[in-house]
Amino acid sequence: MATPFPPGERLPDRVHVTEVGPRDGLQNEPVVLATADKLALVHSLVEAGVREFELTSFVSPRAVPALADAAELVAAVRDVPGVHVSALVPNLRGAERALAAGVDAVVLFVSASESHNAKNVNRRIEASLAGFEAIARHLEGSGIELRGAIATSFGCPFEGEVPVAAVGRIARRFADLGARYVSLGDTTGMATPPLVAERIRHLREAVPEIVPTLHFHNTRGIGLVNVMQGLRLGVDRYESAIGGLGGCPFAPGASGNIASEDLIYLLDEMEIATGIALDGLIEAARLATRLMGRELPAQVSKAGPRLATHDATCTLTAKG
Ligand code: ZN
Repeated sequence: MATPFPPGERLPDRVHVTEVGPRDGLQNEPVVLATADKLALVHSLVEAGVREFELTSFVSPRAVPALADAAELVAAVRDVPGVHVSALVPNLRGAERALAAGVDAVVLFVSASESHNAKNVNRRIEASLAGFEAIARHLEGSGIELRGAIATSFGCPFEGEVPVAAVGRIARRFADLGARYVSLGDTTGMATPPLVAERIRHLREAVPEIVPTLHFHNTRGIGLVNVMQGLRLGVDRYESAIGGLGGCPFAPGASGNIASEDLIYLLDEMEIATGIALDGLIEAARLATRLMGRELPAQVSKAGPRLATHDATCTLTAKG
């Protein structure tokens, strides 16, 4: 059992971490990586012990040029032993492409606020949900898992507060479509610990058959605080991006997803197992930094592990 912290609380012994850097991260980066570079990054992450990837998105290549190589990338990664590959699909055409490419899971996504859904996929929420029914029917018997993702689950950059009931209603629809895992996306970093508690408690009550996954962005600097709150509530599934890749088109200069190495550092120190090695992730983050050609927002890959010691003869002194 993981060390109780705060005293008396039981945290999960083990958590599942899905790496979303190749999808959520790269989708929001100005630099478009070659498929071979993406593959090198994935291999580096696999080397560190990462087994679950949200690898890409089968959206129109015109809409998101950075992910135009979706089929090629999935085909290359699916042969890596033990790796689980999921991909976002916006519509039936995307689902057909994902199926043909050989994904393990498709992730259907919709926003919990009308304005964000309109901006993202140019559809009413209800129209998105109705479209999912056809995709679910298409996937029936294929053996491909269906997952759900709810963007703007903790707030909307256009509408402000998002009612918890709006998140619950969409989660219910995902459950009815047969999804077991539903991810709550903190698309623009508006989550706070009270909102995390409210949403998780509501889902457990209203849609007990789903297993929630938490997907935080560090836009306002409290991504890992929100993870801590999730752990206290017993949530054992999280999504993160190596290096803290990504950003947000609606919050200029904002940092991206919570960084995988910062997350694993926290979980290691809490004695929560993940199967992922921090030093390996730091290697992968260095590669990501080289490939992107810019400093990435993650912190542990810069500072090193807590007990990484320095040469005492170093002439620099810290004052304060
Ligand atoms: Zn995201």
